[in-house]
Amino acid sequence: MSATLANPLNLLGMSRQRLAEQFERWGERGFRATQLVRWIHQRGVTDFSAMTDLSKALRQHLAAEAIVRPPEVALERGSDDGTVKWVMRLADGNAIETVFIPEDDRGTLCVSSQVGCALDCTFCSTAQQGFNRNLTADEIIGQIWMANRRLPVPEGRSRAVTNVVFMGMGEPLANFEALVEAIDLMLDDHAYGLSKRRVTVSTSGLVPALDRLGGVTDVALAVSLHAPNDELRDRLVPINRKYPIRELLQACRRYTRDGGHHHRVTFEYVLLAGINDQPEHAQQLIDLLREIPCKVNLIPFNPFPGAPFARPSLNAVRAFERLLAEAGFVTIVRRTRGDDIDAACGQLIGQVMDRSNRPARMIRLHAELPVQPGASA
Ligand code: SAH
Repeated sequence: MSATLANPLNLLGMSRQRLAEQFERWGERGFRATQLVRWIHQRGVTDFSAMTDLSKALRQHLAAEAIVRPPEVALERGSDDGTVKWVMRLADGNAIETVFIPEDDRGTLCVSSQVGCALDCTFCSTAQQGFNRNLTADEIIGQIWMANRRLPVPEGRSRAVTNVVFMGMGEPLANFEALVEAIDLMLDDHAYGLSKRRVTVSTSGLVPALDRLGGVTDVALAVSLHAPNDELRDRLVPINRKYPIRELLQACRRYTRDGGHHHRVTFEYVLLAGINDQPEHAQQLIDLLREIPCKVNLIPFNPFPGAPFARPSLNAVRAFERLLAEAGFVTIVRRTRGDDIDAACGQLIGQVMDRSNRPARMIRLHAELPVQPGASA
């Protein structure tokens, strides 16, 4: 058999454990999986013949049965502020977005977990595309693999990506198995070696899946709350009709408390002018979250064409922030980054995908648009 197999196994998204099991099925030694993981994820090598500390027989075996295939970059844009945005093309022609946000002390990669999203939050542009499919673990981890290959490594660090947030397209907890497998590789010292505090799962609040996640890992958690009462949240985040605020907050407590998870939940709150940004909403939010160790992340709405909402004025944002801060909440207003490249939520994908989710014209721009190194680099 040759490497031109119709359905070769993509090893990119396989955790060390799964690879070891696969090796054993092939009659190879399981511990070789560690070497392979290091080649793939630490050195970024995809060609088995270059993996010189594996036996020739194993390399031939791998070449005959498997591949290491990352997603392709269809488009890459670097912002003046150092933010880089990619549209990645998947093997089936679908496209996803990935964004890199450099700061002085870290480099955060915002990854997608699904093609589109089924949850239909009214202020989210991904929702407008509808749901196409879950990403596989290799498509999730492939975003980090690719970003680390393409970004310059800042001095004093071994890689550009130091933090990962699941805040790109999709609902990560609706793609549980692939999410957990990808997290496994992110935390694996032989792959990316990120600490649990540096990997954040952001969810709109799928309560049973959140409980399941708490049973297998304790990575950082961000919850898209966006409203301080069920009536409003039912409208903005429709999954609230199934898992209302009270149940969601109880699940958050279980996630942070059980199993000795010590970090706080981050509550995300998109500020929509005249909808959920009034002082009375801030007060309700304060009452709601009073007993929960948490941080609040205020996100001024990122407008997109046809959106039925507007971004509040800076004054309104500051006033909301002040009320929370005075009540003792650690409150952060998320800065908008990469405005010049449409880096915010789901804004670039519209240029390469049509509304029915079929790949439209793929624009190959990355040759003309060099990556701008981070301002801090
Ligand atoms: N499905 C996950 C990940 C979504 S994206 C979740 O719901 O958490 C990450 C964050 O961006 C979420 O809090 C999401 O609600 C928010 N978001 C989506 N569209 C936005 C927009 N147009 N403006 C501001 N924030 C938005």
